[in-house]
Amino acid sequence: MTFRQRHLLGIEPLHPLEITTLLDLADTYVDLNRRAQKHADVLAGLTQINMFFEASTRTQASFELAGKRLGADVMNMSMQASSIKKGETLIDTALTLNAMHPDLLVVRHPHSGAVDLLAQKVNCAVLNAGDGRHEHPTQALLDALTIRRAKGRLHRLNVAICGDIAHSRVARSNILLLHKMENRVRLIGPPTLMPSEIGELGVEVYDDMRDGLAGCDVVMMLRLQRERMDGGFIPSEREYYHRYGLDPEKLSHAADDAIVMHPGPMNRGVEIDGILADDINRSVIQEQVEMGVAVRMAAMDLLARNLRAEGLGAA
Ligand code: ASP
Repeated sequence: MTFRQRHLLGIEPLHPLEITTLLDLADTYVDLNRRAQKHADVLAGLTQINMFFEASTRTQASFELAGKRLGADVMNMSMQASSIKKGETLIDTALTLNAMHPDLLVVRHPHSGAVDLLAQKVNCAVLNAGDGRHEHPTQALLDALTIRRAKGRLHRLNVAICGDIAHSRVARSNILLLHKMENRVRLIGPPTLMPSEIGELGVEVYDDMRDGLAGCDVVMMLRLQRERMDGGFIPSEREYYHRYGLDPEKLSHAADDAIVMHPGPMNRGVEIDGILADDINRSVIQEQVEMGVAVRMAAMDLLARNLRAEGLGAA
């Protein structure tokens, strides 16, 4: 089974074997990235444009590094300075860029579905770097690679995703991926931060951290996505930390070898204890960042192979 996708818009359309193919390839890029000489030329001659309509640190930097390490010509569009500010629509911007013949377009947008829409208007491969509260596929893939390397497998694990589920594209993509790979997912958080479609997600729901974490192998913490909240979803940060912030005592209810994850950016003392976040015996947060570069290299490599098979891009 190879990787059949034209774009990487979400986890939803991926077959479990496509996920495994991508993670296997990413493992080889982890090795490359640990060498002094980090170059492979699989994207040589191709043009990658990164368009971030929302703030990003890790995702933008790692897509840029990934493209450069694979030999692509990488351009970062500054969307603050772009014609969007002058009233140009997303589609017109996309068509303008399309006329410059990019091969890979990496897009982050605050509106769910905007990246899918854009993918219908351009000839190149589009990678979703996060759209609203919809999906963030490379985050779920890098989380999966981190889990697989730490636990030695990516199936039959109990995974707790904790905090602001309702506003999180990271949670959505992770739930989809973890289910495809046959894991059990528990969501833990206040009822006000659970999505309305909770019944359709096939998950167990808890509003008590100690109950929800009992016996879990993986504990994934989430940031409060204030930019997507339009009202008072939590009483106060102090109260939130007391009930839902991950600290050593709450973690003691999980399995003894449970790992702690966070997609970043992290708010220490709000959703996670700062010392725990830095504890290299429990926290794999830095590994997640490292896996992010390798996963993005693998994703662009596979999409570029498909472009070439279709006769687009550099032959
Ligand atoms: N960086 C992740 C995202 O873009 C998580 C977060 O912002 O809290 O969705």
